[in-house]
Amino acid sequence: MDEIRIDNLEIYAGHGVYAQENAQGQPFFVNAVLYTDTRKAGREDELAFSTHYGEAAHLINQYLREHTFRLIEAAAENAAEQILLRFPLVRSLELELCKPRAPIGLPFSSVSVKISRGWKRAYLGVGSNMGNRREYIERAVRRMEENPKIRCLRCSDLIVTPPYGGVEQEDFLNGAVELETLYFPDELLRFLQSLEEEAERVRTVRWGPRTLDLDILFFEDFVSDDPSLTVPHPDLHNRRFVLEPLSGLCPYLRHPVLGKSIRQLYEELGK
Ligand code: ATP
Ligand code: MG
Ligand code: MG
Repeated sequence: MDEIRIDNLEIYAGHGVYAQENAQGQPFFVNAVLYTDTRKAGREDELAFSTHYGEAAHLINQYLREHTFRLIEAAAENAAEQILLRFPLVRSLELELCKPRAPIGLPFSSVSVKISRGWKRAYLGVGSNMGNRREYIERAVRRMEENPKIRCLRCSDLIVTPPYGGVEQEDFLNGAVELETLYFPDELLRFLQSLEEEAERVRTVRWGPRTLDLDILFFEDFVSDDPSLTVPHPDLHNRRFVLEPLSGLCPYLRHPVLGKSIRQLYEELGK
């Protein structure tokens, strides 16, 4: 990725854990690296194809002056999010926030935090087999589209599938969703669980009937075997109702553990 850099942007602001720091303020310095593709702007010599570094610098300055955080961690976190929300061509960024006059009582030149944040691609499995199945799924997709931390959403066709896991119940409507998000995996799961709750999902039997099921199938190349969030979804390669809609969205996506593409996994399941 190409980089647009802002070095040593000086901002007078009130971040700190002491009341006096909040009241009086002190200088902070920001270093930001915006990762983006500058090719088109470079070829066409046209600002509309790039990110205005002046506007980005002013946004950081204004945001860090108008808000007061106790920690430079929080100030950096929130400022980084503002940039990612405001400038769609910035895929990710590094943001360093330095506090050269931090009240430490020892000689030092600066303390700082440096974070990397960005849009991450995820794939979800969606399913319903109670009530108005299509409406439950479509409402959840609308909620995702309304969330500013989610963008570029694509939904597969929804397919009718027989129940899975041995419980006698109605047929399912299943699909897959591709999206980009600023959430971390556990935060995305919590948001999805809030949508399941909104659909008044009740958990009684495992793999039993449900108004709405939203599972994280993939989250970039992230791999986790934590039972509260296992990624990639541990059973996806055994499920036709997952692989069929996924292969419409991303046939060449490679499973980071099994090392095979979605198309390959789907073909192998058919045999
Ligand atoms: P399955 O995950 O086999 O499709 P399910 O979707 O019916 O079963 P749920 O009742 O929706 O299971 O979720 C049970 C728990 O699974 C959740 O509380 C969640 O913490 C955990 N979980 C683990 N990995 C994931 C994942 N990748 N996506 C969603 N939930 C997950
Ligand atoms: Mg599920
Ligand atoms: Mg689930």
